[in-house]
Amino acid sequence: MPKNSLLGSKNSAFASLAAQSPDHELSIVLHTHIGASCFLMRSFLLHLSENKRLAPLIINNSVSRRVARRFVAGETLDDAVEAARNLNREMRLASLDLLGENVSDEAGARRAAENYLSIFGRIELEKLDANVSLKLTQLGLDLSEALCQELLEKIVAHATTHGNFVRIDMEGSAYTERTVELTKRVRAKFSGVGTVMQAYLYRAEKDVLDLLAVGCRLRLCKGAYQEPPDVAFPKKSDVDANYVKLMKLILPSGIYHGIATHDPAMIDATKAFVREKNINREQFEFQMLYGIRTDLQQQLVREGYRLRIYIPYGTDWFPYFMRRLAERPANLTFFLRNLLPRSSQPSSS
Ligand SMILES: Cc1cc2nc3c(=O)[nH]c(=O)nc-3n(C[C@H](O)[C@H](O)[C@H](O)COP(=O)(O)OP(=O)(O)OC[C@H]3O[C@@H](n4cnc5c(N)ncnc54)[C@H](O)[C@@H]3O)c2cc1C
Repeated sequence: MPKNSLLGSKNSAFASLAAQSPDHELSIVLHTHIGASCFLMRSFLLHLSENKRLAPLIINNSVSRRVARRFVAGETLDDAVEAARNLNREMRLASLDLLGENVSDEAGARRAAENYLSIFGRIELEKLDANVSLKLTQLGLDLSEALCQELLEKIVAHATTHGNFVRIDMEGSAYTERTVELTKRVRAKFSGVGTVMQAYLYRAEKDVLDLLAVGCRLRLCKGAYQEPPDVAFPKKSDVDANYVKLMKLILPSGIYHGIATHDPAMIDATKAFVREKNINREQFEFQMLYGIRTDLQQQLVREGYRLRIYIPYGTDWFPYFMRRLAERPANLTFFLRNLLPRSSQPSSS
């Protein structure tokens, strides 16, 4: 096995090993084993993403900073603006996200809101084709719903007046109900706001119908948090099936939505559906994360689809980085291989 396949090409490496074995039972055991290890690894990383003591160790480590730069545009607004400018030049739209979540004091929440108003200022000044994405726990949802709504309304009012848009990211399921309700309340006053639906949640279909009924723009994604089996589909195949089902529910609504995924199967299903239903390419957009599947991003643009890239920036990148590692074991392998001193890495011969 090549040395970089330790975790990286997990299923394919084990699949080919198993295929070479005449013993069918061995093949089943290997598949089950690797499936379980990936599931455990994902759970472990998502659990670590909430560890406040680990955060400074990772953030201050030069190797993790370098690896994180693949997913995070930089630590300053200037970095994010430059990334957005470059993407705009290549016909990719942007959504700027100032990293930060679970703010624990009112001053921090008010500071985040002021920062978001400054981001809109820069978007207008630089004439960027960009909106913003934010998290409600960054605006103090853990402290007070009233405070969070006050700050959100201030940002959304600004966006709406300037013809722009605020996307409320969806966090873990402990926040789903409050996020949906707050979105509806603010959407009743201002049109420039929408939120995110996670296809792994059993409740997603009901939320989609509720939000479509109030004309809310949605971003559809699979979901990035650690959720128990009574809340979210544990199996990827079920998540994928629900994703396609929800995509077919939202796209014919006449509201402008975002199909956020790097999964070629989800993208192909979307392309086939819009072709079948004669849905115009201007009526929706694909969305992807900064630094992920750039090849696919360029291909979609070449094919004439609208594509928005989510650009995270800021110093508080630890939880975001851990979620990206959890999504793909190859990312973790790459990170660990860089972290290990050269002398302790296995030889490539
Ligand atoms: C624009 C955008 C906004 C999002 N907002 C939210 C949100 O508000 N709330 C939320 O819970 N989740 C959010 N997510 C994350 C999402 O829920 C998934 O966790 C993530 O997109 C991976 O799922 P996937 O659809 O790409 O499919 P997967 O089946 O996970 O991946 C498909 C393929 O994409 C590539 N890929 C996926 N992830 C990575 C990665 N980290 N590194 C390298 N390659 C990768 C791989 O090639 C993989 O095989 C967002 C995603 C996007 C694109």
